[in-house]
Amino acid sequence: MTDAEKLEIRDITRIERIGAHSHIRGLGLDDVLEARNVSQGMVGQKDARRAAGIVVNMVKEGKIAGRCILLAGEPSTGKTAIAVGMAQALGTESPFTSMSGSEIYSLEMSKTEALAQALRKSIGVRIKEETEIIEGEVVEIQIDRPATGTGQKIGKVTLKTTEMETNYDLGNKIIECFMKEKIQAGDVITIDKASGKVTKLGRSFTRARDYDATGAQTRFVQCPEGELQKRKEVVHTVTLHEIDVINSRTHGFLALFSGDTGEIKQEVRDQINNKVMEWREEGKAEINPGVLFLDEAHMLDIECFSYLNRALESDMAPIVVMATNRGITKIRGTNYRSPHGIPIDLLDRMIIIRTVPYTEKEIKEILKIRCEEEDCTMNADALTVLTRIATETSLRYAIQLITTSNLVSRRRKASEVLVEDVKKVYSLFLDEGRSSRILKEFQDEFMF
Ligand code: ATP
Repeated sequence: MTDAEKLEIRDITRIERIGAHSHIRGLGLDDVLEARNVSQGMVGQKDARRAAGIVVNMVKEGKIAGRCILLAGEPSTGKTAIAVGMAQALGTESPFTSMSGSEIYSLEMSKTEALAQALRKSIGVRIKEETEIIEGEVVEIQIDRPATGTGQKIGKVTLKTTEMETNYDLGNKIIECFMKEKIQAGDVITIDKASGKVTKLGRSFTRARDYDATGAQTRFVQCPEGELQKRKEVVHTVTLHEIDVINSRTHGFLALFSGDTGEIKQEVRDQINNKVMEWREEGKAEINPGVLFLDEAHMLDIECFSYLNRALESDMAPIVVMATNRGITKIRGTNYRSPHGIPIDLLDRMIIIRTVPYTEKEIKEILKIRCEEEDCTMNADALTVLTRIATETSLRYAIQLITTSNLVSRRRKASEVLVEDVKKVYSLFLDEGRSSRILKEFQDEFMF
């Protein structure tokens, strides 16, 4: 790799690292789900974080599905941050999908299809499969490389348990694992015959005595009793959407990689639902409802709300978490006004979590965390000025000034951001309030 390429890679990593919510690593709750003051990048907003933690726990326990939660609060009060925290707290076990209300108008498919796909991306299906696992102590390994020039290897391993010894022919894949793991006589291993995966469990006490520096025996593994062959359950987790795409004749599984899935026919989905239900009854699959996060929920229109209302009734519905910063406003696609721009019948089935404006101290703490995240050293006075700016404009605007003031201070080869740097960028970049005032003042001079 050339130096230029290395630099490019480093740049990309950096851009990812400083995304708007990259400092959030969870909900910052303790064992009894109480919110810590500052934890996992999260500051304040304790009631909302606690409520979100309870929802996460219920999702993890598979207790709820088809529920709708609304995060409602003023702009920049951390609704999206809480949703990101929920995703982190859920871990990789439960699927989490995130989209913005306005996104559904820009996709190359109908609004309801976009919602259907988002809902189905948020439902995991744990498919259980049985595979044959051989477990035992390696007595002898023979690996030959025939002189055919194909690079193929053949081999045999003798495994034993306390009761019997058996020979196994090794496939090429298994041999590669043996060589990679440096497996030798005396090791206790498992071989998964379906995937060819070899796992070293440790050294057998009977063949090789291992001692650590203190003289204590280590890595001792008891040879398994009884049968050499065991059947073991392996679990794959896929989403309903992935199953849809793979089974959609028009698109096929390659669409999973290109993301170009197009619209999927309802009949395909119905068949898949029936099949998954069948697997569930036979004990072959478990349904794992995850979370669909819909930011800017007020951007959805009446058609979307009706679709969601119906979809949430389905047996296979995820938890839908919406967020909005709107008060009483028009429901898109109608002339009716409603709280948050969401129809009353949908609101009625929602649990509402309120986020509240931050105190000055909390804002300062969030800005401090963001400075660390952006590798920006800001002196105490500059941070106080920036906090003042945040309280008078918005937290998001102040966060933007961290990046820019950092650049300005680096320009003058300074090691930290000073008040003058913050003042400079405050005068260079307008916040929403000042920009609106200018527009009002000079509106006659702008084009109509
Ligand atoms: P909007 O209604 O305008 O969409 P929002 O309520 O979704 O706003 P966020 O985007 O979550 O607000 O917050 C603005 C910025 O402040 C983000 O960078 C976010 O990560 C950060 N932030 C907000 N609340 C917290 C918090 N409690 N702890 C740490 N960072 C936070």
